Amino acid sequence: MKCPFCHETENRVIDSRLSKDGNMVRRRRECLKCTRRFTTYERVEETMPLVVKKDGRRESYDRVKIVNGLKRACEKRPVSINTIEAIADRIERGLQERGDKEIPSSFIGEAAMRELHDTDQVAYVRFASVYRSFKDISEFMVELEELLKERKGLPARMRGQKQKKGQENRLP
Ligand SMILES: [Zn+2]
Repeated sequence: MKCPFCHETENRVIDSRLSKDGNMVRRRRECLKCTRRFTTYERVEETMPLVVKKDGRRESYDRVKIVNGLKRACEKRPVSINTIEAIADRIERGLQERGDKEIPSSFIGEAAMRELHDTDQVAYVRFASVYRSFKDISEFMVELEELLKERKGLPARMRGQKQKKGQENRLP
């Protein structure tokens, strides 16, 4: 990605958003040489690898899912939305840097765990304890959301376990 002003290729992403239809990523970038800012629009299919779930199914990469999972893990913790977005950026860049067409979902989960480990211990433990019993990031993200949403109601963990089987037939 060349800077339109000085053609430097090194830059940092300062903001990254998925379009409403989920097909485009809009990125604000800052050139590391001239520090001027520019915006890029990238097609998701072109920039992100397909995520290979544990059962072998493929699904397109979904940043929103990752951000939501991180948000849930960080609920009521002193972690700002900027920090969460930055974590998602780093995970995303890690995926892009590999340059693979497909990536195991576990790669995303492990990356998120490493990030949370360095960010907030409570969020890390929440994330890790649920993630390790699922081993599949998209299934896990849905469960984590429900777990935290319904913490005050039903024993969500039990519900989660019971639902696990049926989930195989449910599209994410
Ligand atoms: Zn520049």
